[in-house]
Amino acid sequence: MSTPLVATGLRFLVVEDQGFQRWTLEQMLRSLGAAQVHSAEEGRQALEVVRCADPPVDVIVTDLNMPGMDGIEFIRHVGECGSRAAILLVSEQDPTLLASVAAMTEAYGVGLLQALRKPLTPQKLAAALARYHKPVEAAEAPRAFTLREIDAGIRNDEFAPYFQAKVSLSSGNIEGAEALARWHHPQFGLVAPARFISVLESNGKIDAMTMAVLRKSAVQCRAWRARGFSTTVSVNLSLTLLDEVGLADRFDDAIAEEGLTPADVVLEVTETAATSHVAHVLENLSRMRMKGFGLSIDDYGTGYASMQQLARIPFTELKIDQSFVHSAVNGGSSRAMLESSLEIAAKLGITAVAEGVSTAEELTLLRELGCPYGQGNYLIEPLPAAEFAAILARHALVRAVR
Ligand code: C2E
Ligand code: MG
Ligand code: MG
Repeated sequence: MSTPLVATGLRFLVVEDQGFQRWTLEQMLRSLGAAQVHSAEEGRQALEVVRCADPPVDVIVTDLNMPGMDGIEFIRHVGECGSRAAILLVSEQDPTLLASVAAMTEAYGVGLLQALRKPLTPQKLAAALARYHKPVEAAEAPRAFTLREIDAGIRNDEFAPYFQAKVSLSSGNIEGAEALARWHHPQFGLVAPARFISVLESNGKIDAMTMAVLRKSAVQCRAWRARGFSTTVSVNLSLTLLDEVGLADRFDDAIAEEGLTPADVVLEVTETAATSHVAHVLENLSRMRMKGFGLSIDDYGTGYASMQQLARIPFTELKIDQSFVHSAVNGGSSRAMLESSLEIAAKLGITAVAEGVSTAEELTLLRELGCPYGQGNYLIEPLPAAEFAAILARHALVRAVR
């Protein structure tokens, strides 16, 4: 069977100490259409390439066990030098270790395509490379925006949500959409949340952006209703916002102004370290639930005392973190984590959503395990409001003529 030319136009760096394996990998990449393949035997040599290659490397395929600088240290340096290359881990190590290095890679802010166990076949390689997306930001974007810059962007109304579908894995229907904040920067183009959320949160300034996203999401949801769709809209909330008592009322008022009810809206809360105002958070979440908002626990499994939070907060949905979804296909502890998250959601009678579904293999596994909902680039990527509405309409049309 011929494999698609998924590497066309991409520049690679292969980091592998075994000469024959390195050569084989280089050949596979060329046969998949690679524009350029650099190679290195260990981390230090590889880092030179990452720092000096012009044009820069798009994808680094790296082993973990190497003499000299090993793959784990190499990945840290890739993060520190601000490279925008994505990493594909290929190793004979066991799935649990691979999953932990995968999580470390993302924690260093380095894009991860997949963690694969050796031996590598052209098919496995092609499936992993199919996940590659060029980074969304323009190359000249600075590494960090200041609070002043972000604040000015909010005042100039430069923030608007993209929408990513939440899809029923049994029917294929689009049941909901998650609003993901995007900054349409006049100079740098589309800026992802990683560049502004934490700056806003740590300065206690996340409120204005969240209200803008909530209002714009409500406007879109009302437009979907007007066209006969019952799709709900999910909005991400920072835990820091929940310190303010009275937030539930403000949210209720904001969506009511757009003619929506709380049942149209799901609020996603990422579980992070304990907040200093547990009582305020619990008061807000309880009131939001009482008003009828859906409550979702985001990035489930990565945060603080997940089980404890599930026990005391009236969540209606659990979103399984994408790191488990990606690694579960290799088995090991991630698979166990995925299965037990699905089990606990079923036992609590709440909805389970697998986040970041990005390959056919992941989708097949989720279906086998009976996961009811999925979200991810393999299903539908986050889209601007108009494009999302067009997809909703097209989906409905396809179902109508079936
Ligand atoms: P999240 O709420 O867990 O959102 C899912 C993230 O996964 C999004 O990243 C989405 O683009 C990404 N994603 C979806 N499918 C795939 C896939 O197949 N593969 C991979 N690798 N990623 C996928 P995004 O948009 O960059 O947002 C990152 C995080 O920023 C969000 O994670 C959320 O925690 C936060 N965020 C986004 N918008 C807002 C907001 O309005 N307010 C607050 N407080 N946080 C927000
Ligand atoms: Mg979310
Ligand atoms: Mg998430």
